[in-house]
Amino acid sequence: MPDALDAKLGAAIGGRTASAFERAFGHRTVGDLLAHYPRRYAKRGELTALAELPLDENVTIVAEVLQVVTRQMRQRKGSILEARITDGTGTLTLTFFNQPWREKDLRPGVRGIFAGKVGEYKGYRQLAHPEYKLFDELDLPQTPEETKRWAEQPVPIYPATSTIASWQVQEAMALALDSVPQLDDPVPDAVRTELGLLPFREALERVHRPQHDNVWWAGRDALKFQEAFVLQSALLERRARTLERPAAPRSAGPLLAGFDAALPFALTGDQARVGEEISADLANEHPMNRLVQGEVGSGKTLVALRAMLAVAQSGGQSALLAPTEVLAAQHLRSIVRTLGPDLAARLRPTLITGQLAAADRRRATLAAVSGSAQIVVGTHALLGDAVEFFDLGLVVVDEQHRFGVEQREALRAKGALAPHVLVLTATPIPRTVAMTVFGDLEVSTIAELPAGRSPIESFVVPLADKPGWEARIWRRTAEELAQGRQAFVVCPAIDPRAREEGAEESAEEVAAQGEAEAADAAAARPANVTETLERLRAMELFAGRRIEPLHGRMSADEKDATMRAFAAGDIDVLVATTVIEVGVDVPNASTMVVLDADRFGVSQLHQLRGRVGRGSVPGLALLVTSAPADALARERVDAVAATLDGFELAQKDLELRREGDVLGLSQSGGRSSLRLLRVASDGDVIALAREHAAHVLGDDPALARHPSLRAALDRRLDEESAAFLAKG
Ligand code: ADP
Ligand code: MG
Repeated sequence: MPDALDAKLGAAIGGRTASAFERAFGHRTVGDLLAHYPRRYAKRGELTALAELPLDENVTIVAEVLQVVTRQMRQRKGSILEARITDGTGTLTLTFFNQPWREKDLRPGVRGIFAGKVGEYKGYRQLAHPEYKLFDELDLPQTPEETKRWAEQPVPIYPATSTIASWQVQEAMALALDSVPQLDDPVPDAVRTELGLLPFREALERVHRPQHDNVWWAGRDALKFQEAFVLQSALLERRARTLERPAAPRSAGPLLAGFDAALPFALTGDQARVGEEISADLANEHPMNRLVQGEVGSGKTLVALRAMLAVAQSGGQSALLAPTEVLAAQHLRSIVRTLGPDLAARLRPTLITGQLAAADRRRATLAAVSGSAQIVVGTHALLGDAVEFFDLGLVVVDEQHRFGVEQREALRAKGALAPHVLVLTATPIPRTVAMTVFGDLEVSTIAELPAGRSPIESFVVPLADKPGWEARIWRRTAEELAQGRQAFVVCPAIDPRAREEGAEESAEEVAAQGEAEAADAAAARPANVTETLERLRAMELFAGRRIEPLHGRMSADEKDATMRAFAAGDIDVLVATTVIEVGVDVPNASTMVVLDADRFGVSQLHQLRGRVGRGSVPGLALLVTSAPADALARERVDAVAATLDGFELAQKDLELRREGDVLGLSQSGGRSSLRLLRVASDGDVIALAREHAAHVLGDDPALARHPSLRAALDRRLDEESAAFLAKG
């Protein structure tokens, strides 16, 4: 049954307009356009505040024309028309070159929507050559009631581009809506009725063409639920399909028992419990699909290694995927060390990364394909076609957020039987995110840290209020070194001109940076490795100390050698970027100084802090910031200093970030990414949708009796595979 949503956009809104929409937004079908939801609603009678328009951003505002003048330019031939518009308090200037005829349009007192990029000229905000649409005079209300209605009718404001303005979207939307008199709702009638949600078509009408103020809320609710419901159905169906695939059951035996007996410590209760969950999964004839989350240092890698030993018992191989070369190499070293010489000789842990020399790589891939290497550690290079396995039984993915569903699928495709999959993450994931992003996984949590861990003390060093504290940072660091310990100093950038490395840039953060910069010109240039290194090396305090850099522009060998020397205690202070972020394990490192800490995200800071206090020495984290106390940027730094609870911080992070970052999907252009649903605030909707989706799928697994849900899921799958193919 062809769905009206799949109709080509051109048929509804005209070929030329449709091509413009495809170029601007990637819309191809009527369904694509209808899912382009308003960002907000303006009212014709309510003007947009002009005082705080963000510079350099495309804005769409409702305002009233105050004054228009046309001047001849002296230097050049031509005229300049300047219109001042107002929100009743502030004003904004519109400028047009050589378009004096606009004076007829832009008469004082006329209201309209104006759209353009906010620029600055001689210190004043302006829009140069904005698009605008004036509220038609013929429409103007005559009676007081009409006036009220006119003023309150909501005007949807759409995400727009420089080529397509909000009202052009609105016009196209009207045509698209009129082209679909009826729509099948993927949400079954029974569910919709039970929850009191509007039918699909009605919901779209309310959202895109609201006749009264606030009627769009109910429309949004219905569409949001639908989005969550389709997503959860897709995840649950994927989970069910994975579970149907055959996998080789793997049972632990003497290999694991011998390993456990030789461990110098006892497993924590959580490690033992999660280990049992994993053994039960591995013994199954269907693939395990499990996420293990636990704080940095909670012993996840050990749990994964024990799973590998169970797989190795029957001759199977395990692949461990790490997000970076440094971490892959470190994993290999720590696995070799933890296994001990006998087991290492038997299982032959082998590294495969993109940067291996050709001969080494050949040797390593041969060991993988012949099955002689029973543990293979690598980066995404392991996903390439060049790497084959003899009997891949288990795939462990460390730090999942860089590996999406598609990558997991690619790995699964490597065996005739599906391998078991174990995903590890040190980023605690709020339940609703887990449900949304990893809804196809079972989740285990390790909350308990191994005994004997020293606590980490965290302090904010607010240089904006206390510039004098700068010296204290280094004195304190020197004291730690004097006790035989080591320190990390982390900078956002590599050198004075470099872009920030690895620092996350959500819109909020960029905005926050803007604030910080305005407040303190010095903060405009982030602390960088090159200059910090020079400065520290020149300090009397650090005389005789070995201070070395570590960053992403060094070769893999250099990075590796540096990390090794640091781990061996030959380097006292490592001045680094976030390449040391995840998984680096140096028990003797006690001090983590993060310069310009406000440039990092909450999770990043928490991860960085987790690099110290890993052994028996107490950890010290100094989060240095020049952001003023009330800046948004400071909120993140303060939040991290205030608690060691990763879950609390994850929730905070979620609130402060954009969804796209949370999901690890690019929000723009990703046709299957979230639209109305916000994982931070829509936890209830997500949980409710999952419950109903489970019920519907439980009743009708193939969805034979739910054709429109079937169609929605197939559409999603198509989009996902298209997106995956496009990524290459
Ligand atoms: P994670 O991967 O969760 O960050 P790891 O597995 O790397 O943690 O463990 C961190 C350190 O703690 C390692 O040096 C590991 O050998 C050690 N460790 C793991 N489990 C225990 C335990 N139960 N008791 C003591 N130390 C442990
Ligand atoms: Mg780890």
